[in-house]
Amino acid sequence: MDDRFSSETVIKSIDLEWEQQRAWVEIDRAALVHNVRQVRSLLKPDTQMMAVVKADAYGHGAIDVARTLVAAGVDWLAVATVPEGIELRAAGIVAPILLLGAIHTDIQVRAIVQWNLQPTICTIPQAITISKSVAALNLDKPLNIHLKLDTGMSRLGANWQQAETFYREVSSLPYLKIGSLYSHLATADAIDRTVMDMQLDRFARSIAAIENAGYAPPLLHLANSAGILTTDRSHYQLVRPGLILYGLCPAPHLQSKIDLQPVLSVKARVSQVKEITAGTGVSYGYRFIADRDMQIAVIEIGYADGVPRRLSNRMQAIVRGQLVPQIGTITMDRLMLDVSQIPDLQVDEIVTILGRDGSVYISADDWANEVETISWEILCGFKPRLPRANKDEEPKNA
Ligand SMILES: *Cc1c(COP(=O)(O)O)cnc(C)c1O
Repeated sequence: MDDRFSSETVIKSIDLEWEQQRAWVEIDRAALVHNVRQVRSLLKPDTQMMAVVKADAYGHGAIDVARTLVAAGVDWLAVATVPEGIELRAAGIVAPILLLGAIHTDIQVRAIVQWNLQPTICTIPQAITISKSVAALNLDKPLNIHLKLDTGMSRLGANWQQAETFYREVSSLPYLKIGSLYSHLATADAIDRTVMDMQLDRFARSIAAIENAGYAPPLLHLANSAGILTTDRSHYQLVRPGLILYGLCPAPHLQSKIDLQPVLSVKARVSQVKEITAGTGVSYGYRFIADRDMQIAVIEIGYADGVPRRLSNRMQAIVRGQLVPQIGTITMDRLMLDVSQIPDLQVDEIVTILGRDGSVYISADDWANEVETISWEILCGFKPRLPRANKDEEPKNA
């Protein structure tokens, strides 16, 4: 067979050539750096920053985002799973990486050691198991681990009332070195601060109990994005921003605390333009019927790429700087727009599905409000099928 048409060659050339792309996620690295600086400006000079890049950097593409963040002065990275950590290491990233997840089978512990990742430990039995796995590997230095307390989230972590026992027991184990003590806030984005204050208090009391027993946790951390914005009492020696680095705010009432620039946009191409007459149904189930003669465009992005199907008939896109309505059910791979206002729209033109075009902007918060979820879920819903492109390296409409 002609080598130029082997499956690998074709897939690779489609991956590389912009003319072939049907849709993609565009990353604005300058915005990412701007957001790092904005977060930094809220911290005391010696507070470290751990950028949370789990879930493919909230759908932005973990490797490029992590590289940009590290170059911008972020001290640590955090991911959820071992493979997410390995992906960064394999790409040559050397910053310390915390694993926020807490499943550590024997094979995972081997991978953690081999790839120089730092696991979270939430229970004493888990610490014992990991200590044994590490012992079996005959290392010349202990494994850095991080202890997590549950101060009110009721998710991962040892109960804060057992903080001292937990710390003491783990400290006594061989082959493990405690790198930090941390907890996670459940309601830092709420206007009512009661629960957050309770968690701050519990974390402080846990630390006091550990210190009274003669231990000195080397690094303390608590704050997610909302915690960072709400109170510097949550900052301790390190903060763990996720969402705000990507330029979205955890809650409207926190917007004024920081000047953020959204990092991600989503673009897709027009694959067909057609006229339909009044009364014509559009897409599965005919959930849209044209009430007049109209011009519609087929756009090559669908729910399999991360556009929620629940946005059907409820979203807009930006075509040549103008908002146009989406019509009919969003399908797996494509959706339709009413482009009656844009009479000479061409096949292959690029439209903005999410993000800015000219003076018009559609944000992940707009989508989230429409489908009753949060911007976090919208962002990490963008699938690997969408290539990630840097803003300056992608095609523009002629
Ligand atoms: C995801 C996560 C964060 C970041 O949360 P944001 O709200 O996106 O800032 C911080 N800490 C932990 C433990 C997390 O799981």
